[in-house]
Amino acid sequence: MAATLLSRGAGAAARALTFGCLRQLHIVYQTVELPETHQMLCQTCRDFAEKELVPIAAQLDKEHRFPAEKVKKMGALGLLAMDVPEEYKGAGLDYLAYSIAVEEISRGCASTGVIMSVNNSLYLGPILKFGSEEQKHQWIAPFTSGDKIGCFGLSEPGNGSDAGAASTVARLDGNEWVLNGTKAWITNAWDASAVVVFATTDKSQKHKGISAFLVPMPTPGLSLGKKEDKLGIRASSTANLIFEDCRIPKANLLGQQGMGFKIAMQTLDSGRIGIASQALGIAQGALNCAVDYAEKRLAFGLPISKMQAIQFKLADMALALESARLLTWRAAMLKDNGKPYTKEAAMAKLAASEAATAISHQAIQILGGMGYVTEMPAERHYRDARITEIYEGTSEIQRLVIAEQLLKQYRG
Ligand SMILES: Cc1cc2nc3c(=O)[nH]c(=O)nc-3n(C[C@H](O)[C@H](O)[C@H](O)COP(=O)(O)OP(=O)(O)OC[C@H]3O[C@@H](n4cnc5c(N)ncnc54)[C@H](O)[C@@H]3O)c2cc1C
Repeated sequence: MAATLLSRGAGAAARALTFGCLRQLHIVYQTVELPETHQMLCQTCRDFAEKELVPIAAQLDKEHRFPAEKVKKMGALGLLAMDVPEEYKGAGLDYLAYSIAVEEISRGCASTGVIMSVNNSLYLGPILKFGSEEQKHQWIAPFTSGDKIGCFGLSEPGNGSDAGAASTVARLDGNEWVLNGTKAWITNAWDASAVVVFATTDKSQKHKGISAFLVPMPTPGLSLGKKEDKLGIRASSTANLIFEDCRIPKANLLGQQGMGFKIAMQTLDSGRIGIASQALGIAQGALNCAVDYAEKRLAFGLPISKMQAIQFKLADMALALESARLLTWRAAMLKDNGKPYTKEAAMAKLAASEAATAISHQAIQILGGMGYVTEMPAERHYRDARITEIYEGTSEIQRLVIAEQLLKQYRG
């Protein structure tokens, strides 16, 4: 490989110099503050990401290719159903473990990170919390091994942030629900075997008239839109789900009729811990790349890491990252301890996603021209980071959630 790089002529020395960035096993963050089990899990996920994901992440991104084989391996490791009890074939771990694992996987490949996060938080999460015993056995167990993955259909072409304005409808016809409408931007859509989908069963009740349903994929009356051509996380599929007189059994209602909005909001509280963790992984990948390059790149006779302007950037990047990680771990631990965590999950997602965007931006600056080409991972981190400020509630929506919770606390 070095020979290939050197044979390219001008710029080859810089490329060879910086190529180490892709291959070196990085010191990332200290995990001493974590319980031993979580430190071990972190190491396992880090090893998996280094060996299985880092070498192929750029190619997956380029080809928009779903990493089916890696997803199966992750299923075998228990990474696709981390907080699902063992009786439903899950790993039986906690949300702190989940957060650590999503971060490590996302550091290797952010697309794989979101595939994992959607299956754990958005698909399995609501079934585990609101499903009947029968539903848990039917809709959870087959989705833990990586053979099947799930997706979550809340957003629509006409409403994303305003999820309560759903125009997809479900009407009861004998022993079946009949679904009509379009869900937009659905992660995993092309690769999923089931969807937790939200539809209005009583329009007069507005958001209190929304219900949640379990729909197998494929199923008659449900078709997929085109695969979206995205800025980042390109190895995960994103598409519309189009329901046209799609009939599902009456028993596929999740929770009670009219509980859908509550199910969606509670699911997103947990999901935001997953996306915060994905953002941490992207940010850590970008910081590692920047530090490696700064240590090796010479300018004016010195490694650029000796220059204070670069050191200040690195310091700010590390500070933003570590602050966001502590917020994310706190939100996860609150959930694990059965305490309210809506505000903390929104804070974690907001801090981590803004940190990921800022850190990956500065990483490109530190790499100079090499930050701008696909031979280095910096540009991919920058593209991948951007989505974390948009999905599972934009940064504006996180601020609204935080302010609402904060004012509630002050007002008692
Ligand atoms: C790659 C990708 C994957 C996704 N995956 C999924 C998925 O798996 N399942 C799913 O259901 N959805 C998914 N989404 C949808 C995503 O959650 C929405 O895009 C997001 O919630 C924003 O909704 P919107 O795009 O309709 O923007 P809009 O709601 O139209 O917002 C546009 C702008 O207005 C701002 N805004 C809106 N309301 C307010 C307000 N009250 N105050 C201040 N500002 C406001 C927003 O912050 C944003 O800046 C995905 C989206 C993408 C791009």
